[in-house]
Amino acid sequence: MQILTEYLELKIIDRIKIIDITQNINAALAESGLRMGIVNIYSKHSTSAVFINENESGLLDDYLNLIQSLVPSNGNYKHDRIDNNADSHLRSFIIGNNETIPFQNAKMSLGTWQSVFFLEMDGPRNRKVTITIMGD
Ligand code: ZN
Repeated sequence: MQILTEYLELKIIDRIKIIDITQNINAALAESGLRMGIVNIYSKHSTSAVFINENESGLLDDYLNLIQSLVPSNGNYKHDRIDNNADSHLRSFIIGNNETIPFQNAKMSLGTWQSVFFLEMDGPRNRKVTITIMGD
């Protein structure tokens, strides 16, 4: 078994943005030379998230509407006394910062309607996503 690490760098200009990174991860798998194993996609930031779901334009708006209604921007958050981005931290906390996905033939074994997304919640920022590939 081998373990390889790749990095995906994202330059995001909006405060909140959903980015489909499925093709980037499959490209990293193809370059790795490994055929079968698992891949972990990990965001190194506490105001962003990584999740798997369907890439449908209505749903993309629904995800954003949901997190903004669950964690309103104008809550009475203690963290806002020092940083003014508590909403971004709390949204990240709810969704999570990584996903682990099996792969075969150098391609993620996702369901037909599944994609992998990076969710920026405190942009504009430059972000780094760690792709750890484990397999043979
Ligand atoms: Zn903060």
